[in-house]
Amino acid sequence: MVYLSLTRYASIGFFGLGNMGKHMVINLLKVNHNVTIFDTDSKTFDYFKEYKHVNIANKPEYVIQQSDFIILMLPNGDIVRNVCQSNIFPLARKGTFIIDCSTIDLRTSKELAKIAQNEKLHFIDAPVSGGVIGAQQGTLTFMVGCELDDFKSIKPILAKMGKNIVRAGTNGSGLAAKICNNLLAAISMIGTSEAMNLGIKLGLEKKVLNELINSSTGQCWSSQSYNPCPGIIPNIPSNNNYQGGFASELMTKDLLIALDAAKDVQAMTPLTEHATKFYQEICSNGLNKKDFSVVFQYLNKE
Ligand code: NAD
Repeated sequence: MVYLSLTRYASIGFFGLGNMGKHMVINLLKVNHNVTIFDTDSKTFDYFKEYKHVNIANKPEYVIQQSDFIILMLPNGDIVRNVCQSNIFPLARKGTFIIDCSTIDLRTSKELAKIAQNEKLHFIDAPVSGGVIGAQQGTLTFMVGCELDDFKSIKPILAKMGKNIVRAGTNGSGLAAKICNNLLAAISMIGTSEAMNLGIKLGLEKKVLNELINSSTGQCWSSQSYNPCPGIIPNIPSNNNYQGGFASELMTKDLLIALDAAKDVQAMTPLTEHATKFYQEICSNGLNKKDFSVVFQYLNKE
Protein backbone atom coordinates (compact mmCIF):
# COMPACT_ATOMS: atom_id res chain seq x y z
CA MET A 1 0.00 0.00 0.00
CA VAL A 2 1.28 3.50 -0.77
CA TYR A 3 0.86 5.52 2.38
CA LEU A 4 2.34 8.82 1.30
CA SER A 5 -0.73 9.92 -0.67
CA LEU A 6 -2.90 8.68 2.16
CA THR A 7 -1.02 10.71 4.75
CA ARG A 8 -1.67 13.98 2.93
CA TYR A 9 -5.30 14.19 4.05
CA ALA A 10 -5.48 11.04 6.13
CA SER A 11 -8.17 10.55 8.74
CA ILE A 12 -6.52 10.87 12.07
CA GLY A 13 -7.77 9.82 15.48
CA PHE A 14 -6.43 11.52 18.57
CA PHE A 15 -6.61 10.43 22.22
CA GLY A 16 -5.65 12.93 24.94
CA LEU A 17 -6.45 16.63 24.55
CA GLY A 18 -4.50 17.98 27.50
CA ASN A 19 -1.80 20.65 27.62
CA MET A 20 0.01 19.14 24.63
CA GLY A 21 -2.60 17.19 22.69
CA LYS A 22 -5.03 20.05 22.09
CA HIS A 23 -2.39 22.15 20.31
CA MET A 24 -1.16 19.19 18.27
CA VAL A 25 -4.71 18.55 17.07
CA ILE A 26 -5.14 22.18 16.08
CA ASN A 27 -2.01 22.03 13.95
CA LEU A 28 -3.46 19.02 12.12
CA LEU A 29 -6.79 20.79 11.62
CA LYS A 30 -5.05 23.87 10.23
CA VAL A 31 -3.78 21.79 7.30
CA ASN A 32 -7.20 20.23 6.69
CA HIS A 33 -6.75 16.79 8.15
CA ASN A 34 -9.98 15.27 9.42
CA VAL A 35 -9.38 14.58 13.08
CA THR A 36 -11.61 12.54 15.37
CA ILE A 37 -10.83 13.33 18.99
CA PHE A 38 -11.51 11.70 22.33
CA ASP A 39 -10.67 12.57 25.92
CA THR A 40 -12.11 11.16 29.14
CA ASP A 41 -12.52 14.77 30.31
CA SER A 42 -15.31 16.20 28.14
CA LYS A 43 -14.40 19.76 29.18
CA THR A 44 -11.45 19.49 26.80
CA PHE A 45 -13.89 19.41 23.84
CA ASP A 46 -14.90 23.06 24.46
CA TYR A 47 -11.59 24.10 22.97
CA PHE A 48 -12.57 22.77 19.53
CA LYS A 49 -16.02 24.26 19.07
CA GLU A 50 -14.82 26.79 16.51
CA TYR A 51 -12.93 24.34 14.30
CA LYS A 52 -13.97 22.68 11.06
CA HIS A 53 -12.85 19.13 10.16
CA VAL A 54 -13.04 17.96 13.76
CA ASN A 55 -15.27 15.13 14.94
CA ILE A 56 -15.78 14.87 18.65
CA ALA A 57 -16.22 11.26 19.73
CA ASN A 58 -18.13 10.58 22.90
CA LYS A 59 -16.82 7.02 22.92
CA PRO A 60 -13.28 5.82 22.12
CA GLU A 61 -14.66 3.27 19.64
CA TYR A 62 -15.70 6.06 17.25
CA VAL A 63 -12.12 7.32 17.02
CA ILE A 64 -10.84 3.92 16.01
CA GLN A 65 -13.48 3.25 13.39
CA GLN A 66 -12.80 6.60 11.70
CA SER A 67 -9.02 6.56 11.56
CA ASP A 68 -6.09 5.35 9.46
CA PHE A 69 -3.66 6.86 11.96
CA ILE A 70 -4.30 7.03 15.69
CA ILE A 71 -2.21 9.37 17.80
CA LEU A 72 -1.96 9.01 21.58
CA MET A 73 -0.94 11.88 23.87
CA LEU A 74 -1.77 10.36 27.24
CA PRO A 75 -0.39 10.78 30.76
CA ASN A 76 1.30 7.42 31.40
CA GLY A 77 2.01 3.81 30.40
CA ASP A 78 -0.90 2.25 32.30
CA ILE A 79 -3.37 4.47 30.48
CA VAL A 80 -1.73 3.87 27.09
CA ARG A 81 -1.81 0.11 27.70
CA ASN A 82 -5.46 0.23 28.72
CA VAL A 83 -6.53 2.31 25.71
CA CYS A 84 -4.61 0.02 23.34
CA GLN A 85 -5.70 -3.29 24.79
CA SER A 86 -9.32 -2.40 25.59
CA ASN A 87 -10.13 -0.20 22.62
CA ILE A 88 -7.63 0.05 19.80
CA PHE A 89 -6.21 -3.44 19.27
CA PRO A 90 -9.59 -5.21 19.16
CA LEU A 91 -11.20 -2.67 16.80
CA ALA A 92 -8.55 -1.13 14.55
CA ARG A 93 -8.43 -2.07 10.87
CA LYS A 94 -5.36 -4.09 9.79
CA GLY A 95 -2.54 -1.75 8.81
CA THR A 96 -3.59 1.08 11.13
CA PHE A 97 -0.73 3.13 12.51
CA ILE A 98 -0.82 3.80 16.26
CA ILE A 99 1.58 6.63 17.01
CA ASP A 100 2.20 6.94 20.73
CA CYS A 101 3.54 10.42 21.49
CA SER A 102 3.14 9.99 25.26
CA THR A 103 6.21 9.48 27.42
CA ILE A 104 5.89 5.98 28.87
CA ASP A 105 8.22 3.23 30.07
CA LEU A 106 10.19 1.35 27.44
CA ARG A 107 9.01 -2.07 28.57
CA THR A 108 5.30 -1.29 28.11
CA SER A 109 5.94 0.37 24.77
CA LYS A 110 7.96 -2.54 23.39
CA GLU A 111 5.36 -5.02 24.61
CA LEU A 112 2.54 -3.08 22.94
CA ALA A 113 4.56 -2.91 19.70
CA LYS A 114 4.88 -6.70 19.74
CA ILE A 115 1.19 -7.30 20.37
CA ALA A 116 0.31 -4.80 17.64
CA GLN A 117 2.60 -6.55 15.17
CA ASN A 118 0.83 -9.86 15.83
CA GLU A 119 -2.47 -8.10 15.09
CA LYS A 120 -1.03 -6.66 11.82
CA LEU A 121 -1.03 -3.15 13.28
CA HIS A 122 1.88 -0.73 13.50
CA PHE A 123 2.70 0.62 16.98
CA ILE A 124 5.30 3.38 17.00
CA ASP A 125 6.84 5.30 19.90
CA ALA A 126 7.17 8.97 18.97
CA PRO A 127 7.57 11.00 22.17
CA VAL A 128 8.12 14.73 21.85
CA SER A 129 10.22 17.52 23.22
CA GLY A 130 9.57 21.25 23.03
CA GLY A 131 6.84 21.62 25.64
CA VAL A 132 3.53 23.39 25.30
CA ILE A 133 5.07 26.24 23.33
CA GLY A 134 6.53 23.77 20.82
CA ALA A 135 3.14 22.05 20.57
CA GLN A 136 1.42 25.39 20.01
CA GLN A 137 3.88 26.61 17.41
CA GLY A 138 4.22 23.26 15.63
CA THR A 139 7.93 23.13 16.36
CA LEU A 140 8.11 19.94 18.43
CA THR A 141 10.97 17.48 18.12
CA PHE A 142 9.67 13.95 17.56
CA MET A 143 11.96 11.09 18.64
CA VAL A 144 10.70 8.08 16.75
CA GLY A 145 11.21 4.36 17.34
CA CYS A 146 10.07 2.10 14.47
CA GLU A 147 11.11 0.35 11.26
CA LEU A 148 12.24 2.60 8.41
CA ASP A 149 9.17 1.93 6.20
CA ASP A 150 6.82 2.86 9.02
CA PHE A 151 8.83 6.01 9.62
CA LYS A 152 8.40 7.04 5.99
CA SER A 153 4.65 6.54 6.31
CA ILE A 154 4.14 8.60 9.45
CA LYS A 155 6.73 11.35 8.96
CA PRO A 156 4.45 13.59 6.84
CA ILE A 157 1.88 13.63 9.63
CA LEU A 158 4.37 14.32 12.38
CA ALA A 159 5.82 17.11 10.24
CA LYS A 160 2.48 18.98 10.60
CA MET A 161 3.05 19.15 14.35
CA GLY A 162 6.80 19.41 14.62
CA LYS A 163 10.00 20.71 13.10
CA ASN A 164 12.53 17.97 13.84
CA ILE A 165 11.32 14.48 13.08
CA VAL A 166 14.12 12.06 13.87
CA ARG A 167 14.11 8.28 13.72
CA ALA A 168 16.20 7.16 16.70
CA GLY A 169 16.06 3.44 15.81
CA THR A 170 13.66 0.52 16.17
CA ASN A 171 10.75 0.24 18.67
CA GLY A 172 11.58 1.81 22.03
CA SER A 173 14.45 3.95 20.70
CA GLY A 174 12.38 7.14 20.59
CA LEU A 175 11.51 6.70 24.25
CA ALA A 176 15.11 5.89 25.15
CA ALA A 177 16.19 9.23 23.63
CA LYS A 178 13.30 11.06 25.29
CA ILE A 179 14.08 9.91 28.83
CA CYS A 180 17.75 10.79 28.41
CA ASN A 181 16.71 14.29 27.34
CA ASN A 182 14.22 14.65 30.19
CA LEU A 183 16.58 13.61 32.96
CA LEU A 184 18.93 16.31 31.69
CA ALA A 185 16.07 18.87 31.58
CA ALA A 186 15.09 18.00 35.17
CA ILE A 187 18.63 18.32 36.48
CA SER A 188 19.34 21.57 34.65
CA MET A 189 16.01 23.04 35.84
CA ILE A 190 17.04 22.37 39.44
CA GLY A 191 20.48 23.87 38.70
CA THR A 192 19.01 27.01 37.12
CA SER A 193 16.61 27.43 40.03
CA GLU A 194 19.38 27.04 42.60
CA ALA A 195 21.58 29.55 40.77
CA MET A 196 18.79 32.13 40.39
CA ASN A 197 17.65 31.71 43.98
CA LEU A 198 21.17 32.04 45.40
CA GLY A 199 22.07 35.00 43.15
CA ILE A 200 18.96 36.96 44.12
CA LYS A 201 19.58 36.27 47.82
CA LEU A 202 23.14 37.55 47.32
CA GLY A 203 21.64 40.84 46.13
CA LEU A 204 21.91 40.44 42.36
CA GLU A 205 19.23 41.88 40.09
CA LYS A 206 17.46 38.87 38.52
CA LYS A 207 17.55 40.10 34.90
CA VAL A 208 21.24 41.00 35.15
CA LEU A 209 22.04 37.60 36.65
CA ASN A 210 20.06 35.83 33.93
CA GLU A 211 21.76 37.83 31.18
CA LEU A 212 25.17 36.95 32.59
CA ILE A 213 24.33 33.24 32.87
CA ASN A 214 23.02 33.23 29.30
CA SER A 215 26.29 34.64 27.98
CA SER A 216 28.38 32.33 30.17
CA THR A 217 28.99 28.63 30.65
CA GLY A 218 25.88 28.04 32.79
CA GLN A 219 23.55 28.81 29.88
CA CYS A 220 20.98 26.09 29.16
CA TRP A 221 17.38 25.74 27.90
CA SER A 222 15.88 26.49 31.30
CA SER A 223 17.93 29.67 31.74
CA GLN A 224 17.45 30.81 28.14
CA SER A 225 13.90 29.87 27.15
CA TYR A 226 12.06 28.64 30.23
CA ASN A 227 13.48 30.54 33.15
CA PRO A 228 11.90 29.37 36.42
CA CYS A 229 12.22 32.79 38.05
CA PRO A 230 9.11 34.95 37.44
CA GLY A 231 9.52 38.29 35.68
CA ILE A 232 12.23 37.31 33.21
CA ILE A 233 10.56 35.64 30.21
CA PRO A 234 6.93 36.46 29.33
CA ASN A 235 4.27 33.86 28.43
CA ILE A 236 5.83 30.86 30.16
CA PRO A 237 4.50 29.06 33.27
CA SER A 238 6.82 30.83 35.75
CA ASN A 239 5.03 34.06 34.83
CA ASN A 240 1.62 32.49 35.27
CA ASN A 241 1.89 31.07 38.78
CA TYR A 242 3.45 27.92 37.27
CA GLN A 243 0.19 26.89 35.63
CA GLY A 244 0.03 24.94 32.34
CA GLY A 245 3.28 23.62 30.87
CA PHE A 246 4.75 20.31 32.01
CA ALA A 247 3.40 19.15 35.37
CA SER A 248 5.89 18.22 38.10
CA GLU A 249 4.13 14.87 38.46
CA LEU A 250 4.81 14.13 34.77
CA MET A 251 8.48 15.03 35.22
CA THR A 252 8.62 12.74 38.27
CA LYS A 253 7.11 9.96 36.16
CA ASP A 254 9.76 10.49 33.46
CA LEU A 255 12.58 10.42 36.02
CA LEU A 256 11.26 7.15 37.45
CA ILE A 257 11.16 5.73 33.91
CA ALA A 258 14.77 6.82 33.41
CA LEU A 259 15.87 5.19 36.71
CA ASP A 260 14.07 1.99 35.80
CA ALA A 261 15.73 1.89 32.37
CA ALA A 262 19.13 2.69 33.91
CA LYS A 263 18.74 -0.21 36.33
CA ASP A 264 18.04 -2.59 33.44
CA VAL A 265 21.33 -1.72 31.74
CA GLN A 266 23.33 -0.98 34.92
CA ALA A 267 24.05 2.67 34.03
CA MET A 268 25.04 4.94 36.93
CA THR A 269 22.65 7.90 37.38
CA PRO A 270 23.44 9.57 40.74
CA LEU A 271 22.06 13.02 39.85
CA THR A 272 18.90 11.51 38.36
CA GLU A 273 18.34 9.78 41.72
CA HIS A 274 18.67 13.11 43.56
CA ALA A 275 16.44 14.91 41.05
CA THR A 276 13.77 12.20 41.40
CA LYS A 277 13.69 12.50 45.19
CA PHE A 278 13.51 16.28 44.90
CA TYR A 279 10.58 16.24 42.46
CA GLN A 280 8.81 13.63 44.60
CA GLU A 281 9.18 16.03 47.56
CA ILE A 282 7.79 18.89 45.46
CA CYS A 283 4.79 16.75 44.43
CA SER A 284 4.08 15.63 47.99
CA ASN A 285 3.94 19.31 48.97
CA GLY A 286 0.88 19.83 46.80
CA LEU A 287 2.76 21.18 43.76
CA ASN A 288 2.26 18.07 41.59
CA LYS A 289 0.07 19.82 39.00
CA LYS A 290 2.31 22.88 38.77
CA ASP A 291 4.83 23.19 35.95
CA PHE A 292 8.19 21.60 36.71
CA SER A 293 9.82 25.04 36.88
CA VAL A 294 7.97 25.47 40.23
CA VAL A 295 11.19 24.19 41.77
CA PHE A 296 12.35 27.84 41.95
CA GLN A 297 9.31 28.85 44.03
CA TYR A 298 9.78 25.79 46.24
CA LEU A 299 13.43 26.63 46.96
CA ASN A 300 12.50 30.22 47.62
CA LYS A 301 9.85 29.26 50.16
CA GLU A 302 12.11 26.76 51.86
P1 NAD B 1 -2.20 16.35 30.40
O1 NAD B 1 -2.42 15.67 31.70
O2 NAD B 1 -2.36 17.82 30.28
O3 NAD B 1 -3.15 15.69 29.27
C1 NAD B 1 -3.47 14.33 29.21
C2 NAD B 1 -4.91 14.21 28.71
O4 NAD B 1 -5.22 12.81 28.56
C3 NAD B 1 -5.95 14.79 29.68
O5 NAD B 1 -6.77 15.71 29.01
C4 NAD B 1 -6.71 13.57 30.18
O6 NAD B 1 -8.08 13.84 30.47
C5 NAD B 1 -6.57 12.65 28.96
N1 NAD B 1 -6.83 11.23 29.25
C6 NAD B 1 -6.50 10.50 30.36
N2 NAD B 1 -6.92 9.23 30.21
C7 NAD B 1 -7.50 9.14 28.98
C8 NAD B 1 -8.09 8.08 28.24
N3 NAD B 1 -8.19 6.84 28.75
N4 NAD B 1 -8.59 8.35 27.00
C9 NAD B 1 -8.52 9.60 26.47
N5 NAD B 1 -7.96 10.65 27.14
C10 NAD B 1 -7.46 10.42 28.36
O7 NAD B 1 -0.75 15.89 29.93
P2 NAD B 1 0.22 16.61 28.85
O8 NAD B 1 1.03 17.63 29.56
O9 NAD B 1 -0.57 16.95 27.64
O10 NAD B 1 1.20 15.37 28.54
C11 NAD B 1 0.78 14.23 27.80
C12 NAD B 1 1.97 13.32 27.56
O11 NAD B 1 2.99 14.06 26.89
C13 NAD B 1 2.62 12.80 28.86
O12 NAD B 1 3.03 11.48 28.66
C14 NAD B 1 3.79 13.72 29.07
O13 NAD B 1 4.82 13.11 29.82
C15 NAD B 1 4.19 14.04 27.64
N6 NAD B 1 4.85 15.34 27.44
C16 NAD B 1 4.35 16.48 27.99
C17 NAD B 1 5.01 17.70 27.77
C18 NAD B 1 4.51 19.00 28.37
O14 NAD B 1 5.25 20.01 28.30
N7 NAD B 1 3.33 19.06 28.93
C19 NAD B 1 6.16 17.73 26.96
C20 NAD B 1 6.62 16.56 26.39
C21 NAD B 1 5.96 15.37 26.63
